Amino acid sequence: MPSILESQPGLYRDLLPEFLMSEVPEETKATCSSCAMCKSSCGQAVAEEDESAQNYFRPETKCCTYHPNVPNYLIGAVLADDRPEASEGRRRIEEKIRERVGVTPYGINAPAKYSLLYQSSKEFFGRASGMRCPYYVDEQGGLCSIWRYRESVCSTYFCKHVAGADGRKFWMTLKGYLTLVETQLMRYAAFRLEPEYLLGEKHPAEPPARKLTREELEERSPSERDYQKLWGNWVGLEKDFYTECFKIVSSLSKVEVEKILGFDGEASLALLKKYHRAAVFPVLPKKLKLNPDLTVKWLRDPVQGDQVALGGYSELDAVALSVDAFTLLKDFDGQSEVGAVRARWRQEKSTDFADEVLLELAQARVLVE
Ligand code: SF4
Ligand code: SF4
Repeated sequence: MPSILESQPGLYRDLLPEFLMSEVPEETKATCSSCAMCKSSCGQAVAEEDESAQNYFRPETKCCTYHPNVPNYLIGAVLADDRPEASEGRRRIEEKIRERVGVTPYGINAPAKYSLLYQSSKEFFGRASGMRCPYYVDEQGGLCSIWRYRESVCSTYFCKHVAGADGRKFWMTLKGYLTLVETQLMRYAAFRLEPEYLLGEKHPAEPPARKLTREELEERSPSERDYQKLWGNWVGLEKDFYTECFKIVSSLSKVEVEKILGFDGEASLALLKKYHRAAVFPVLPKKLKLNPDLTVKWLRDPVQGDQVALGGYSELDAVALSVDAFTLLKDFDGQSEVGAVRARWRQEKSTDFADEVLLELAQARVLVE
């Protein structure tokens, strides 16, 4: 099993608590290089007019219909990475800096107009090429040009989870913890370099709770005066600023980072440990019943027999079962103990589920307490 930090930016290994070296199940169901959510991964082309295409993600976006807010020190890490394979990410970040849209001392953020659009719908997710991430490379099945330095939303997202709802809860809790890490470290680095950024109480990563300016509507750079006000003496030296932020953060010790994160870090880590236990060491509840909110989709298969696709915790991650197995599950009524129901099956029907299958169904919330 990989460690929690294996999917995270490398510099965190020297900064974050030892607990984050604990193992987590590899998310093998999220087959990103041949995207599990794209119909073309099943060898079928997706036509726009194909109605069933609405249920799939498009290969030219996959789940990257998102504009990350990359904190200053991770921007610096991209710029400092001179390996040839990192050059495309560097080029795209440099282009962003040249364009000056969303470019702030705290990091490079989504344009204000993009954020508003993002918040106003869910329909586009995985499908609208207009919402595609600027760091997405539409080659070789879709690649991320800043993969090693992607921020917490990207690095903790999986469309499907080996540990079902417990896995999703763990990754979402990790996202919360890493968001805190990013916020505190980017503020710390900016403060060390230019205290005025913090004292001026400007936090451009906040979504705009105001009317957009004409520049923001047209996704143009801010006026020279506004940009100068934002960056002060660092105008024209933004790349140096970000690289310095990376150096400041990389030179911190684990103890210093713990201090910077404070009590919020401690509480967030305790929560993460709790959900890690639930995902990695699941326990089958004593009593179970079919999830009353289950979505059931019949899959006709004249060769192997009809099946049902059961969605318990996510519309993106259904469990397929034979119709007979599904019928059997209805014996769980939430009153009788699981052991008693299974003993009855063995005695009366000479059948049973394997322990790990029941556990999987419980983690996928096909069965609930
Ligand atoms: S996580 Fe994203 S890229 Fe990976 S399989 Fe799921 S939708 Fe596709
Ligand atoms: S940064 Fe990478 S992983 Fe995140 S949305 Fe963009 S292309 Fe996808």
